[in-house]
Amino acid sequence: METKYIFVTGGVVSSIGKGIISSSIACLLKARGFRVTIQKFDPYLNVDPGTLNPYEHGECYVTVDGHEADLDLGHYERFTDIKTTRANNITSGRIYQAVIDKERRGDYLGKTVQVIPHVTDEIKRRIKQLGLSGNFDFIITEIGGTVGDIESLPFLESVRQLRWEMSQNSLCVHLTYVPFIQAAKELKTKPTQHSVKKLQELGIQPDVLVLRTEHDIPADVRRKIALFCNVMPEAVVQSPDVPTIYEVPIVMHRQHFDEFILRKTGLPVEGQPHMQPWLDFLAKMHSADKDVNIALVGKYVELQDAYKSIDESLLQAATYNDRRLRLTDIHSERVDDRNVESLLKDFDGVIIAPGFGSRGVAGKLSAIKYCRENKVPVLGICLGMQCMVIEFARNVLGWDDADSTEMNHATYHNVIDLMEEQKNISNLGGTMRLGAYDCRLAPDSIPAKAYGKTDISERHRHRYEFNNDYRQEFEDAGMMCVGENPAAHLVEVVQVKDHPWMVGVQYHPEYSSTVLNPNPLFLDFIRAAIRHGESREA
Ligand code: GLN
Repeated sequence: METKYIFVTGGVVSSIGKGIISSSIACLLKARGFRVTIQKFDPYLNVDPGTLNPYEHGECYVTVDGHEADLDLGHYERFTDIKTTRANNITSGRIYQAVIDKERRGDYLGKTVQVIPHVTDEIKRRIKQLGLSGNFDFIITEIGGTVGDIESLPFLESVRQLRWEMSQNSLCVHLTYVPFIQAAKELKTKPTQHSVKKLQELGIQPDVLVLRTEHDIPADVRRKIALFCNVMPEAVVQSPDVPTIYEVPIVMHRQHFDEFILRKTGLPVEGQPHMQPWLDFLAKMHSADKDVNIALVGKYVELQDAYKSIDESLLQAATYNDRRLRLTDIHSERVDDRNVESLLKDFDGVIIAPGFGSRGVAGKLSAIKYCRENKVPVLGICLGMQCMVIEFARNVLGWDDADSTEMNHATYHNVIDLMEEQKNISNLGGTMRLGAYDCRLAPDSIPAKAYGKTDISERHRHRYEFNNDYRQEFEDAGMMCVGENPAAHLVEVVQVKDHPWMVGVQYHPEYSSTVLNPNPLFLDFIRAAIRHGESREA
């Protein structure tokens, strides 16, 4: 079949879940046997989100091929179980960089380089790029930002041109917000009408409207929206608040959203999507009646999306272990040796979060010491793993000055140090150790048993590493290097002996955990946490 393109735009306000809607469409189409991928076009000028701090843009997600990506790519992978790459996330910065590089090379043959057609052509080329591989039946393209933003204009103009060129092979889904005015007890459709008008002014007629709402939108209100916005009544679907984002595909399917897409793109509507494994997951989530209490110690805990992939991985792992996840965020800057017991004593397991810089590191070290001494299951991720190494060096090996050179450049015991190939790097963007690397695990280690194999591959995002000069001393004292990269011998996993579950991973297991394929290390961590909780109760 010819590749079909679905464009997803948003209006009225941002943060209403374009990423979740795009992921839900992909999830349903995949469950109907189609080959699907999702890409995100972000209008900001950063070349990628890797240099943005979490206050600006939430978590930075990492693809297997080492692209620092928008966190929506995490949703795409969690919903579809299909890996994304750097081709799935393009920013205006990358578009302009490519156009300017071409101009410098002389590729435009003396022409004046302009937003239309040169920038829009570059955008169109990137939108169609994944389709050229022949690997996909559907390409879903999410346009970041909100209709009416100045910076989204070149993207929407490109969508307008492509819809014209592709006709039936393309479709536009527009997501808006329908507010409920409490004082009038009324749902208001005007913002949706305005937003669609704005899109129409740009030459784009949406085929489907998805209405985000906190209240049920009655059929007559939906019909009214259809009438005002030139869409078929059955193409106005609502997306109400649901207890978990993983219910959204089901809510969409109930309104025949997937069938409408097939019909509109000229495909036969046959059978039903195979959603049974997904429904089984949801059923488990709803039937769990016991809790597992996990604390996450990190410095960005006040931000909703800073640890998105970790939060979702824990939720998936708890669900598969028939537990309700009770996740408590603990601000690492507020933890110290005096209050740590009162803060952590009621938890079944603790996550030490990734991060950059020294803020909050002292609190992480206190939390790790508490977990090590009190045999609380603890998983350190990236900086969390590095902090485990530092804590062990200071409190078990007795090296008071032990540190990462990221925090203390001049320390004698540089147990975590800059990787050799990082020493001459001055550009910050895209230069970390990024993407999937192989890791060989020691056969009897906790992670090898969790994964059920010794050769794994997981994604990375860091500059600093365990300093191999100290490996022997650590192992002699009980911190075992149980995972290493076979090519470079970099230590990827540490495990503390005489502790039920104390594991630090230099990689980010959270990036590869999906609804239908939860990450084995998180599953095992939750199992250990459940055991710990039960032993405390006994
Ligand atoms: N700051 C540490 C490094 O660069 C850890 C990074 C992280 O936690 N992602 O190595």
